[in-house]
Amino acid sequence: MKTKFQAIKGMNDLLPEQSAVWQKVEHLLRRLMQQYGYGEIRMPIVEKTALFKRSIGEVTDIVEKEMYTWTDRNDDSLTLRPEGTASCVRAGIEHGLLYNQQQKLWYMGPMFRRENPQKGRYRQFHQLGVEAFGFNGPDVEVEQILLTRRLWQEIGIANDVTLHINTLGDPESRKVYREILVEYLQSNFEQLDEDSKRRLESNPLRILDSKNPKLQSIIESAPKLEDHLDDESKEHFESFKGLLDGMGVSYVVNPRLVRGLDYYNRTVFEWMTDKLGAQGTICAGGRYDGLTEQLGGQSTPACGFAMGIERIIALAEETEFGQNVSNASDIYLIAIGSVAEKKAFNIAEEIRTLFPSLRLSMNFGGGNFKKQFKKADKSGARLALILGEDEVANESCGVKFLREEKPQESMSWDSIADTIKNYFQLLDR
Ligand code: ATP
Ligand code: MG
Repeated sequence: MKTKFQAIKGMNDLLPEQSAVWQKVEHLLRRLMQQYGYGEIRMPIVEKTALFKRSIGEVTDIVEKEMYTWTDRNDDSLTLRPEGTASCVRAGIEHGLLYNQQQKLWYMGPMFRRENPQKGRYRQFHQLGVEAFGFNGPDVEVEQILLTRRLWQEIGIANDVTLHINTLGDPESRKVYREILVEYLQSNFEQLDEDSKRRLESNPLRILDSKNPKLQSIIESAPKLEDHLDDESKEHFESFKGLLDGMGVSYVVNPRLVRGLDYYNRTVFEWMTDKLGAQGTICAGGRYDGLTEQLGGQSTPACGFAMGIERIIALAEETEFGQNVSNASDIYLIAIGSVAEKKAFNIAEEIRTLFPSLRLSMNFGGGNFKKQFKKADKSGARLALILGEDEVANESCGVKFLREEKPQESMSWDSIADTIKNYFQLLDR
């Protein structure tokens, strides 16, 4: 029996018809990064397992059950990156980018988490990560929010997303709160679910983030972190909100927003949508002032976010921005007979030189007139150029506007360039 190979569950092929929208979104993201003064950093996809354990936290979903980890031949434990912040900080420390400096960095690429695949949740997925180092104030956080707001506006999904914000305070005040919370949850122990019972010791704040409907009333009446914040964090949060107000950014203060990774402090935020079912968070981040030191560097204030590209694409596909994007050809070059087939190369190359932005496909593999026209139509091209022996002899070319009810014309080679220029400019490319 022949073995038929299939992609690994939760890891997807991206076909040309989908990649066109991806390219458009990625192009926009790169432009935004440039506009806001962020520089690209590219890190390896594999890191030492300990890096993720130390940064993300031992008792998080990611580290407990989602990482792809294996032992290398020299007994190193290695892991496919589940997120980018840890690698980015590691690279920043390693190359001396962080200490006493201000850095604004971004990266984009695949991340790996062994989750239950479903719509909007995959095992290989893609993130844009944006990280700013060396900035203390809430101003840089606000700029990151403005950057994302601009993105939603340009994609046309600004009305479909809501900004949720919260502050986690400093590590000391969180510790005090944690004890109060554990005490409260312990007194309601019997009503907790298995996950929460397990987290009670290790990561009780995460219980607040539980989606289990049976826990909602316990969570509602739990002591609030905001009642235990340190004064500086409170002030920081107030000026963060003030700057957002000043820029007309609407938001919801969501005291239950705690984020799934251990390294956050003070400001955290998530952009959410109700257009994607359960997978509603499209972008999430916050401040992580302690992480660089935790990973062996000098203490460096930092804040950043990661955006799930698959979820952004899913939203974009419903808007004008994401529609009618394709890799279809613009021009299809039909050639009948060996003389014309040979000449077609010259014409094709010349057009490509003159109009680098146009997509030109040549007909390969011969075929009669009818067959080639069919292929031209299927290619998506709007213009077909037709070359036969007679045309080559008198240096002309048949021109057919494939999407219009116009008869085929004949044109001299000299005038093809102008025709192409006018036609495609007419369509405002
Ligand atoms: P979730 O609560 O959806 O599991 P998370 O808190 O684990 O998200 P982060 O680690 O903050 O997610 O990652 C940032 C963003 O990356 C998420 O908001 C989401 O848009 C996207 N993302 C995370 N995990 C996946 C996944 N498995 N598949 C697709 N996108 C994902
Ligand atoms: Mg997750």
